[in-house]
Amino acid sequence: MSNRRIRLARLVGVPLVIALGVTAAAGADFVIGGTRVKAGSIASGSLPVPGRDGAGTEIPYTVVNGAKSGKVLALVAGVHAYEYPPILSLYRLKTLIDPKALRGTIVMVHIANLPSFKKRTIYYGPDDWKNLNRVFPGDPEGTMSQRIAAVLNREIVGRADVLIDMHCGDGNEALIPYTYWMISGDKAFDAKTRDLALAFGLPHIIIDETRGRDLKDSKYLGNTAILQGKPAITTEAGFLGRTDEESIGLNVRGVLSVLRHLGMVAGAPEPVLDPVWIDKYEVVTSKWSGLFAPRAGMGSFVREGQIVGTVTDYHGAWKEDVRAPFTGILLYVIGTPPCNEGEPLFEVGRVKEK
Ligand SMILES: [Zn+2]
Repeated sequence: MSNRRIRLARLVGVPLVIALGVTAAAGADFVIGGTRVKAGSIASGSLPVPGRDGAGTEIPYTVVNGAKSGKVLALVAGVHAYEYPPILSLYRLKTLIDPKALRGTIVMVHIANLPSFKKRTIYYGPDDWKNLNRVFPGDPEGTMSQRIAAVLNREIVGRADVLIDMHCGDGNEALIPYTYWMISGDKAFDAKTRDLALAFGLPHIIIDETRGRDLKDSKYLGNTAILQGKPAITTEAGFLGRTDEESIGLNVRGVLSVLRHLGMVAGAPEPVLDPVWIDKYEVVTSKWSGLFAPRAGMGSFVREGQIVGTVTDYHGAWKEDVRAPFTGILLYVIGTPPCNEGEPLFEVGRVKEK
């Protein structure tokens, strides 16, 4: 800090520490997976996931390391690898952010679940048929999905100050854009994650009090970060395996707004001004394996007891009309015919009254 600036700080009565905060320090090198990324530069690499039972994989990432110091923001796409708009948005963001003008560091995980991406699977990894977003914090000695989770927890969550787990409707899910605001119970911490959810800008925000509090069984990536004291949100924008421009744009704009909110890039964030708050949600699962035909579209208003869709067996015979458990918004509904016992059919969210 120059003498002139110190004098100025004294002159206007600003505590020195605040003046120092305004003048961000030069950034430091950021080391990840054996790659050293110099301040003010961008680099890509892959984190190895060690092989076991004859199969290993890797996790492709890009680090945008700012010329000035600041927070480390992790952006994780492809935990569900048939969810394409978040994945595609990161390749676009990589070209939009200038490391010379960035404060702090962005760690982009392009495709967290590469085996699933390659084999085009929904929900589950092809090696162990586990859902990656149900096996956190992972196990380095476990199956493929557990090992991927363990690497993500160590290398990405472990290095991040803030994390966004970027999802959308899976290949079979017709879904409207929304954000999960996961409640930790710590008011000051929850205010930070609330601000992140608002900054990302999606029109519906679920107030989610259902996540477990035990890190050994944290299940979800976002929850894993929160249980280690790192503010995180889970976003959902995109649907049915599509790559539409509108959904990609929601993801790009959401991240840019969060970067502004965190003071990592210049400009004002564009938070959602008056979101629809969802204070209760339920994923209704199928009692049968067969075919599902929706009778209401994503985003529809459904009343308690209303038929949302019909299940038939493999011969076309009627099995069940599946009804909404309470009145609310259809946040997503399965939009392709297969349904399996125990798997989701739709999610209803109850709108919070003011
Ligand atoms: Zn997902």
